Amino acid sequence: MLNIGGPRRTLYEYASERNPKVRKISRDEAPHDSTADSSLNLDRWADLESRLDVVREVNACRICGSKDLLRYMDLGMMPLANSFADSAEAARQMRRFPMQVQFCKDCSLSQLTVVIDPEKMFSNYAYRSSINKAYVKHCREMAKSVGELLRLGESDLVVDIAGNDGALLAEFKNELGVSVVNVDPARNLAEIAESHGVPTICEFWGPDVAAKVVEDHGRPRLITATNVFAHVDDMHVFVSAAQDCLHESGALMLEFPYCVDFIEQREFDTIYFEHLSYVLLEPLRRLVESLGMQIFDVQKQDIHGGTVRVFIARQGTHEVQSSVADLIAREKQDGYHDVSIYESWNRDTENLIGDLVRNLADLKKGGAKIAAFAASAKGNTLLNACRLDASTIDYIVDDTPEKIGKFSPGNGIPIVDRDILASDAPDYLLILSWNFAREIIKVTADYGKRGGKYIIPIPSFRIIEAGDEANNGGVR
Ligand SMILES: [Zn+2]
Repeated sequence: MLNIGGPRRTLYEYASERNPKVRKISRDEAPHDSTADSSLNLDRWADLESRLDVVREVNACRICGSKDLLRYMDLGMMPLANSFADSAEAARQMRRFPMQVQFCKDCSLSQLTVVIDPEKMFSNYAYRSSINKAYVKHCREMAKSVGELLRLGESDLVVDIAGNDGALLAEFKNELGVSVVNVDPARNLAEIAESHGVPTICEFWGPDVAAKVVEDHGRPRLITATNVFAHVDDMHVFVSAAQDCLHESGALMLEFPYCVDFIEQREFDTIYFEHLSYVLLEPLRRLVESLGMQIFDVQKQDIHGGTVRVFIARQGTHEVQSSVADLIAREKQDGYHDVSIYESWNRDTENLIGDLVRNLADLKKGGAKIAAFAASAKGNTLLNACRLDASTIDYIVDDTPEKIGKFSPGNGIPIVDRDILASDAPDYLLILSWNFAREIIKVTADYGKRGGKYIIPIPSFRIIEAGDEANNGGVR
């Protein structure tokens, strides 16, 4: 509605008076129902929110401090991806924040335009690493390979930053016999980690915790931080605290989703508020060199839709592998240090979202019943970016006990136990955790055998049947 000083009128009435060609369309006809709101005045919004101490606006790059930032993606106002509600109504009425990504023209770091108070997001975290069997396998292989690379033995200490429920450290302990310390602020997860014999400091990583580790446990030969670096607001403090803490021959190993895969595979669903940065190797190199450290090795990994594993140490302590310069050169050559690739990505992503919505609406019109798997952070971004709710997706199947019986943030879709696939099966199962599609198809084999079909949403809408995935290179 628009009030222009006279009687209240709809925007359509006002617009059609000025231009008789303006045509009313229903929601179904729209190419897609975007939540993007270009009218949002971010400065005023952030002023208001910052008084509540929940949010800060990012108007300077977190790595190089440049203010030359270009906003290239806007998914609209979104709820926090990992906060599950007790009722559908409460889920729909959740507080929302602007979800936008900007590119630093100086160091090429992609980053969100706002930072939400981490206390709000991480003090009770619903994601549990050890639930995900593919991730546990990844951890075991990591322990073996990194243990060999750094020649870790029984006298060594390994610290894991944001080690969740201790899944990774349990593997290091079992495979290498090293001592371990987990640092994670989520109280619910710290208890689980402790019960698995992984000592846990229940705090956010920083200089104080680093000093405490040294005092109580000694200096670690290895500090790992997997899938946490992109969540960190002050990356300088994060890396320098690790530097203060490390043994003189020690290494910091970061593993984070790689920005090249994010763009190449159109992984817009990995945008969520925990995920503050979308990292290339080049900005990371600038950061660590400014602190007197260097990247000495980098390895690409397939997990989580494409991640990189980066090894960092004090300058001159480890031989630098050619992999580092090679990957930075490739980033540059492929255009990732230049803004135009991000602008065209925005258009492609808008089209992808439109396709997903149209294809699901068509299936629904044909009378199909559609469910989703699983209620992950990326799943919630995809559902909310596509404006999907319980009128399209009947329920979301998930294996995390804490999520069952809750409702998905923003859209109010109920989250249920996997048994429902036997008692009230859908015709299509939309695989939201498409990066673990192979695993999900395996664990829902009974559903597949009875003729249930699967939908893979990214990098493009595809319907597959059980058995197809063996012949389909696109399924991970
Ligand atoms: Zn920058």
